[in-house]
Amino acid sequence: MASTGLKYEKQPLYYGGKRQLTTSTFQTIDPSTDTPLADIFKADRSSIHAAISSAKSAFPSWSTTPPIERSRILLRAVALLRKHNDELAVIETHDTGKPFSETSTVDVVTGADVLEYYANLVAAGGLNGETTHLRPDAWIYTTKAPLGVCAGIGAWNYPIQIALWKSAPCLAAGNCMVYKPSEFTPLHALKLAEIYTEAGVPPGVFNVVHGAGDVGGMLTSHPSIAKVSFTGQVSTGCKVASAAAAGMKYVTMELGGKSPCIILPDADLENAVDGAMMANFFSSGQVCTNGTRVFVPQSLLRKFETRLLEKMGDVRAGDLMDPNTNFGPLVSKPHHEKVTRYIRHGIEQDGAKLLYGGAGKPKSVANSNGYWVQPTIFTNCTDSMLITREEIFGPVLCILPYHDTAPNWLDKLVDRANDTPMGLAAGVFTRDLDLGHRVVARLEAGITWVNTWGESPAEMSVGGWKMSGLGVENGRRGIEAWVRNKSTLVEMGGAVATSFSKL
Ligand code: NDP
Repeated sequence: MASTGLKYEKQPLYYGGKRQLTTSTFQTIDPSTDTPLADIFKADRSSIHAAISSAKSAFPSWSTTPPIERSRILLRAVALLRKHNDELAVIETHDTGKPFSETSTVDVVTGADVLEYYANLVAAGGLNGETTHLRPDAWIYTTKAPLGVCAGIGAWNYPIQIALWKSAPCLAAGNCMVYKPSEFTPLHALKLAEIYTEAGVPPGVFNVVHGAGDVGGMLTSHPSIAKVSFTGQVSTGCKVASAAAAGMKYVTMELGGKSPCIILPDADLENAVDGAMMANFFSSGQVCTNGTRVFVPQSLLRKFETRLLEKMGDVRAGDLMDPNTNFGPLVSKPHHEKVTRYIRHGIEQDGAKLLYGGAGKPKSVANSNGYWVQPTIFTNCTDSMLITREEIFGPVLCILPYHDTAPNWLDKLVDRANDTPMGLAAGVFTRDLDLGHRVVARLEAGITWVNTWGESPAEMSVGGWKMSGLGVENGRRGIEAWVRNKSTLVEMGGAVATSFSKL
């Protein structure tokens, strides 16, 4: 317990390899109880400038450190992350409201995996270019150069994972980063910065500034920022991308979705129900790749609904540190208001049939002051309803029945699945793998699954199509977002092929 009576000490900014204070603070709240957890120092213009300056000073040396040496340092950070896994997971549970059963097995683990992946990739030649033998006396080679000082701006749903998915390839490629976590979930950032420092990452290479959208805006528009890697809502992403475009900055945009989860008539029922539940209730539905539009054939509808209802007892809200709890509250009061507004809209205005749940709290936590909402299922949904068109980002599963005997039913189904401005994820459940591949090939989304949902390992490049984003994170392709390429043509003949010789 910190001296303020709050659970955590005051959280400073971090730059120049040390903790830094400012003149104003804000609070982060435990969403499971609606009580403050810590005071956070808020960045102002001068501290943002100082953080960027420290990154600029660190860049010449870090960017020219051989990749294998950078890799050794980053691998030490991986070991520290794994050593402190449970301690970091507890912080994430307090800050986000996600159960410890989840944060201890997913959030830190998948972040550390990505850091390990990129540390190993750059050590093994992942930043090498290509050579082309153009003609006997000329060749071309390409090199990859780091971009400079990059901004990382994170969302609140996977705080430490997002911080690592951005900083891992950024630092491995030789860049420096100024990272701004969401003001709703800032607690992981200091820990991560200090782990990097303990591992040997030089001062100024990874820096943290705290605050809300105005701080993100100042970072994005700062002339010394070469790239902005952003995770958040489509509407914010549009603002950030246009601010970055004004300075011709590189961007990666990881934005929201309204993804289709397609159950084909021959699907294994148990697998389809498990997939649809993972695609809607994991992390209390606060996952960008959620498959919130669940298309179910009329021929399977009744069985699907019955089995889904039977399994809803396995969604367990409760004490977040209890290993059996697998469902937490929503992250914040405003987000709780937003999600419950959508649920009420679904019942009162969209006229969808409420199959399970609703806008109240789960019974097991009915007396809590936290931002809990029941896992909720609507059925008989149509494509024009607000709840099937907009990203809710909560535990709200919408069943959209389709006729699987009508002529061209598959074409119509694919058209309906694609009928959204977003294109983050999509998935299909079927026993017929040929059909599964053919359907996936027609879905307009950057991340797709066949007979599973949600796994996103370090090796898999992920990124949205359409309004869901630009570029990818993770996998071999992910490193390309943090370098610029240079092509060099070398003439070995010793004479310039000039047009200006004497006649
Ligand atoms: P927001 O867009 O509200 O915020 C994201 C980040 O941007 C926060 O740090 C926020 O600050 C900051 N921000 C707000 N305004 C600006 C601005 N004008 N300039 C720069 N930065 C700004 O998203 P949420 O935090 O609500 O996150 C949920 C969203 O993230 C969902 O839509 C989800 O789908 C998406 N997401 C996408 C992922 C992907 O990989 N595609 C992964 C995870 C989430 P602050 O919050 O402190 O005000």
